[in-house]
Amino acid sequence: MRRIERIFFGVGFVWAMASWPLAEALDGLRLLLTVVSVAGLLVMANTTCFAPRVFRASVIGFGLGIGLAIPAIKTIPWYVLAGATTAFLIVVTGVGAGTARQLIHMLRMQVERDEAIECQKRTIAALDSARRAATSLAETDNLTGLPNRFLFMTKLDALIASEEPFSLTLLDIDLFKNINDGLGHNIGDEALKAVGGVLATCEEQHGFAARLGGDEFAVIAIRNRGEKSGTDCVAWVNERIGDLRTSNLKIPSISITGGSTYFPQDANNRSDLLAAADMAQREAKKTRRGGNLDYSANLTDTFRRETRIAQALNEAIAARSLSICFQPKINLQAGRVEGAEALSRFPESLAGYSLDEIFEVAEKRGLGTILDELVLDAYREALVALRDEFSISLPTSVNLSGAILKAPERLFAKLNMLIAEGLSPALIRIEITENAVYGRGQIGVIKLLDDIVKLGFSLALDDFGTGGGTLLHLVNLPISEIKIDRSFVSGMLTDRNKNAIISGLIVTGQGMGVDIVAEGVETEKEANRLRSMGARFAQGFLWSKPLPLSRFADFVRLFGPGVGNNPAIRPEAASARRPELRFAGRA
Ligand code: C2E
Ligand code: CA
Ligand code: CA
Repeated sequence: MRRIERIFFGVGFVWAMASWPLAEALDGLRLLLTVVSVAGLLVMANTTCFAPRVFRASVIGFGLGIGLAIPAIKTIPWYVLAGATTAFLIVVTGVGAGTARQLIHMLRMQVERDEAIECQKRTIAALDSARRAATSLAETDNLTGLPNRFLFMTKLDALIASEEPFSLTLLDIDLFKNINDGLGHNIGDEALKAVGGVLATCEEQHGFAARLGGDEFAVIAIRNRGEKSGTDCVAWVNERIGDLRTSNLKIPSISITGGSTYFPQDANNRSDLLAAADMAQREAKKTRRGGNLDYSANLTDTFRRETRIAQALNEAIAARSLSICFQPKINLQAGRVEGAEALSRFPESLAGYSLDEIFEVAEKRGLGTILDELVLDAYREALVALRDEFSISLPTSVNLSGAILKAPERLFAKLNMLIAEGLSPALIRIEITENAVYGRGQIGVIKLLDDIVKLGFSLALDDFGTGGGTLLHLVNLPISEIKIDRSFVSGMLTDRNKNAIISGLIVTGQGMGVDIVAEGVETEKEANRLRSMGARFAQGFLWSKPLPLSRFADFVRLFGPGVGNNPAIRPEAASARRPELRFAGRA
């Protein structure tokens, strides 16, 4: 009951006491008091009728007064009570109409204030529930209902800060890409939901589970809760999924492979823990698919090596010390240079590592996008220098990793900078691999590639045949070029299968109107075989290693489009005219 209601409850009660004479015989004075008391009640009702709750309180008070007080009052001499009541009424009426108006005003204010407070409370409650809904949306994965990557990272950071020992297990579905590609995305979704459903029930058993994206899941288990290991967890999940399949035939046959790491003994910060679990999981994929591997000392060497690469890479990125070399792309039929591939070169600190490894570590350690941006900057500067200093404009291509495909706005900013520099997108081709396109968690990537093509750039599918992809990719992706990986070209002379695959791809390319480029041609015999098979383009050490700008410009002047047909284009020919071009060497 609010204060104002309590007051009127009291007023009603007192007025009821004033009507006690009703219990006795009605003589003149008692009748008068009764009339006054009833009139008082009516005045009070009139005063409070606009506020039903207040009126109700006063009537209840009055009723209670009648019901409870009269028996008590009977024992008190009537004239004492009559005197008190009269005095009360005199005071009340004495205060008069002015006071009544004030009272009414006060009451209105009180009621309005109460209503405003109620309304405010309702608004706060609505906002609060909207906030909770938004938070849960932002922290929940739509498909599986599990906590998402964001909530997982928050939880991981909190646990590290609390210094409580825990295990972290990364899990994913084996050959998930094949399920999606072969059985369709609906079945892929069923598989993800099944794993999500099982992990959602593992809270009690194994700890906190989340979906990190794609087919990647993670479980964090507090270690003193029964010391469950990651291996138990993965076995448990695989078993439950097997059970589920017997009742739901929509779920395809799947297995889960995991990798675990332990805090604090393996690593003591978020990125090292994730890297360690990832490393263990990757090793498990190779050696025990469908099982789990704990991160261990024998993986430490790889881990340390990656950390050293990441450190050197960070420094190189900060100093922007990355340069571009161009490897000529040869038109085998016309016998001349008709383009080039831009390849990155890093400073001395990274000399001991292959570029493949450097780019792989960059992606794993979250440096992929920034490195891609740096590559595109260096590529732009190199193209401008070729044009302005060496008067060379010819088609070139640049390699991009999967990382920047996940940050389209950053990619398009860089692509637009190329256009703003006056470089023609028609002369720029972007090389991507199947893994970059179909790797973990890539969503809407085909639309992104279409947008790149709409800007006027073209796309090449790099390292074709090594990504474990399918021929369907050739149909689905808006590509203008397929690069046959060196592993097919080397050995094509002796291996019938490789030879057959290359010749099939050349025919496929002709049928699709797509350029086919054979990579890694090292011998004249290979070049001749490719030429006789009808291959148009090739790259390889036979003609040139990737060259720094000025040497590449020399090469183009000797063998470029303006030189005319030179079917015998070979390093010997180059060396006869410019000896330093012979196997120009890695820059
Ligand atoms: P890739 O794109 O397939 O580039 C071709 C690689 O093969 C180059 O190695 C090139 O030097 C080498 N190569 C060319 N012809 C021959 C040959 O006849 N024999 C042999 N043995 N090798 C040959 P490089 O420059 O070390 O690059 C290796 C890989 O690193 C590249 O493979 C590419 O995947 C990656 N990479 C290089 N630069 C970049 C870049 O700027 N961005 C990205 N994302 N990746 C890059
Ligand atoms: Ca390439
Ligand atoms: Ca390649």
